[in-house]
Amino acid sequence: MNKIQMVDLASQYKKIKTEVDQGIQEVIDSTAFIKGPKVRSFEQHLADYLNIKHIISCGNGTDALQVAMMALGLKPGDEVITTSFTFIATAEVIALLGLTPVLVDVNPDTYNIDPQAIRNAITPKTKAIVPVHLFGQCAPMEEIMEIAKENKLYVIEDNAQAIGADYIFEDGSIRKSGTIGDIGCTSFFPSKNLGAFGDGGALFTNDDTIAEQARAIVNHGMKVRYYHDYIGVNSRLDSIQAAILDVKLKHLDEYAMARNYAAEHYDKAFANHPNITIPKRYNKSTHVFHQYTLKLKDADRTALQEHLKELGIPMMIYYPVPLHLQKAYQSDRYSEGDFPVTECLSKAVFSLPMHTELSVEQLEYITNGVLSFFK
Ligand SMILES: *Cc1c(COP(=O)(O)O)cnc(C)c1O
Repeated sequence: MNKIQMVDLASQYKKIKTEVDQGIQEVIDSTAFIKGPKVRSFEQHLADYLNIKHIISCGNGTDALQVAMMALGLKPGDEVITTSFTFIATAEVIALLGLTPVLVDVNPDTYNIDPQAIRNAITPKTKAIVPVHLFGQCAPMEEIMEIAKENKLYVIEDNAQAIGADYIFEDGSIRKSGTIGDIGCTSFFPSKNLGAFGDGGALFTNDDTIAEQARAIVNHGMKVRYYHDYIGVNSRLDSIQAAILDVKLKHLDEYAMARNYAAEHYDKAFANHPNITIPKRYNKSTHVFHQYTLKLKDADRTALQEHLKELGIPMMIYYPVPLHLQKAYQSDRYSEGDFPVTECLSKAVFSLPMHTELSVEQLEYITNGVLSFFK
């Protein structure tokens, strides 16, 4: 049995090596390393896959979020509502731009932002909502879009963990995650569901004006070379990464199926366990299982982690500290106890290995390893 890893990128690469290597070689031969034809073709293929008008690739997912907020013209003092239970990047860019992050609590079952908590946090200064589709499942977008419409707010979807997921509306229509709000943002960090061999990211939008602004901002704020209409940044996806992503995009749905297969195996093993709660499926979204995250109850999480480590099974905690309790984000706005669900989750959740290459043998070894802790 292969060594068990949280993410096994080596085995995944082996299966697509010929095509990936060829794509990389083509870029080297062309020397079109920045803004080359590979970047354009990947953007077009991703736009087709997501059924969206514009894809603007950039340097990483954090930059995508930052550029999104810049393209919408958000100004210092504007309030942006997001979840306290996410990766730091979501709030980091809000703070970095001098905007005010307004954190709110999440749903205890789906771990995603709670629409009622959004409503309660709206003030006259609120300008945008940033829902995060955490662990691979969409936030309740239909309700969020309603709130945004009623209050004239922008919606920026942090889709770094859910690319490829489908959102199902009340009327039965389906849209890809990240294509519902004004802008969607994603990351191509290697361990993400669509991962490059380095950093990468992208913004998605159907709005021509936003797209034009964003495309200028990622390239020093220029539309015409050396004429700078905006203050921009230098954030571009390089051609080698685009070539790799173009190959992997063709496999994205099959990768999501492999992740779901692993998730179902885990579900079966833990469904009726008194100390474990399996991740709840939200009926308005498919799940692409960026992470398989369980809740532990009446048991010592650190001891479980130690037990698994001895068996050679990695386990991670996403995320051990909520954003409002992070040292750099201390604020008069919040104190411990303000977001009971998030705080409770940060103490209870644990994530098992989740990737596209898990074998039945490995899955059984992992589930037996977890179950043996309780015997
Ligand atoms: C990974 C991630 C990001 C940032 O992406 P990078 O490419 O690493 O900058 C932002 N938000 C969430 C929820 C993420 O998981």
